[in-house]
Amino acid sequence: MGANRHMSVDSRGRYTPEVAGEVLPGSEGPAGSRSHNLNSTRRTSLMQEPVLVLNATYEPINVTAVRRAMVLMLKGVAQVEEMHNTEVHSAAHAHRVPSVIRLLAYRHIPQQSRALSRKNILLRDRNTCQFCVRVFPSSELTLDHVVPRSRGGRSTWENLVACCYRCNNSKGDRTPEEAGLKLARRPRPFTLHTSRQLMRLIGHRDERWRKYLFY
Ligand SMILES: [Zn+2]
Repeated sequence: MGANRHMSVDSRGRYTPEVAGEVLPGSEGPAGSRSHNLNSTRRTSLMQEPVLVLNATYEPINVTAVRRAMVLMLKGVAQVEEMHNTEVHSAAHAHRVPSVIRLLAYRHIPQQSRALSRKNILLRDRNTCQFCVRVFPSSELTLDHVVPRSRGGRSTWENLVACCYRCNNSKGDRTPEEAGLKLARRPRPFTLHTSRQLMRLIGHRDERWRKYLFY
């Protein structure tokens, strides 16, 4: 195992820390910053690996990173349900890495738990321009008001979509119909359902997640 330095993050299920979301506020603790003694590439990427977070009732509610999951475990907020195959070695210890954790106390998740923000809209639309259906880095995407603001379009989940600059320019101050553009799909609020779709997308590469996600 030592030879395999780059604990490669699957190219299909690419994990971005943003997916971790903010469903668990205030869980960034001092424990996360304490372990400076090991910073190989492998360890760093391992600490970024996605961990599925279950509610106390085993309902999947979130995805977080290994580092944060370990903080939650240290704080006694969560316990491990499934382990990763890999261990993290520090000078004195080998720490097993979680793949699925479960909160010990039930947490009520409001139906619409995501704030309306640029980050969350790009996440909902999976960094895909909703007109040309191509995937872009966040820096090359803007938000488009489907019904332009000048025409009374509001800044809501249903009226904002990820859009590349090119499509945004060609659309201008028009509706998609007027500009001859078609939306890839109808924009919806970011609900737990959306989060679960993302979890499944990420979870496809980890069989330990399946029994919690594919029910
Ligand atoms: Zn586009």
